[in-house]
Amino acid sequence: MPEKGTLYICATPIGNLRDITLRVLKTLQDVDFIAAEDTRHSKKLLDHYKIKTPLLSYHQHNERQRASELITRLHKGENGALISDAGMPGISDPGQILIRECLEEDIAIDVLPGPNAALTALVLSGMPTDSFVYLGFLPLKKKERKKALAGITKLPYTIIIYEAPHRLVRTLQDILEILGERKIAVARELTKLHQTVYKGLLSELLVRFQITPPKGECCLLLEPYKEEKIEGGPADWLTELRKLELEGKDRKEAMKVIAKRYGISKSVIYKARLDKEKGR
Ligand code: SAM
Repeated sequence: MPEKGTLYICATPIGNLRDITLRVLKTLQDVDFIAAEDTRHSKKLLDHYKIKTPLLSYHQHNERQRASELITRLHKGENGALISDAGMPGISDPGQILIRECLEEDIAIDVLPGPNAALTALVLSGMPTDSFVYLGFLPLKKKERKKALAGITKLPYTIIIYEAPHRLVRTLQDILEILGERKIAVARELTKLHQTVYKGLLSELLVRFQITPPKGECCLLLEPYKEEKIEGGPADWLTELRKLELEGKDRKEAMKVIAKRYGISKSVIYKARLDKEKGR
């Protein structure tokens, strides 16, 4: 039995041909075949770097059939690379089926990291990066799209969505309807000459893009959901606290409600109460 080969999953540029790692270039040169989402698109990249490795197509519509052909070649000891049109294969791009089958067949895989539109947009937008949710493309059907949005209305994380420019206005309208007003960033043409990040309230960017439709590929970033905080001082807190207690809430629970309502800590309310009792 020949030793099995390895599948190298290689990230490629999302717009700027120079965004490719040395390791990816060497691997693309050394493997026996490169499975690409669109061979004509990828040929331009390979020609630019004078890489002559044979290309074969691996796309959404032939993923299952191609995966088994590729598995056979890997079983025979050939090494292969998987690339998509842009960024990281498997991320809103074909790849998952082949990767799963390799793992099931005990064929080694390796990921060669590199460009990815979601992370580039997230960092560039200035939105919170500590925790975020990647949604990829929202469903095309309106009902399903709205259902997907209804499931994320109160997520306290930055939300990243991919969208084609001709569907951007429609998607922003749905987001505004379901999630309500909030800050948003639209990052377009990342890593390219006309890279732009538009920032503002959802309704503002919606009007902007209704007047001038955006060009180029886009990523949307929504700010995390925040509980509405009411403005008010110690007198308001204590009045409402008293009211809640009269309604039968225990003191600890009532303090928790007020703290959340005004966006303050329970200890601040506790201190205000002590001060009042001491007549300070
Ligand atoms: N695999 C890719 C990745 O790792 O980011 C994503 C591929 S997905 C089919 C294509 C979508 O990614 C586009 O519709 C757009 O939302 C986003 N995208 C890709 N390149 C981009 C760019 N240069 N600027 C902004 N968005 C981009």
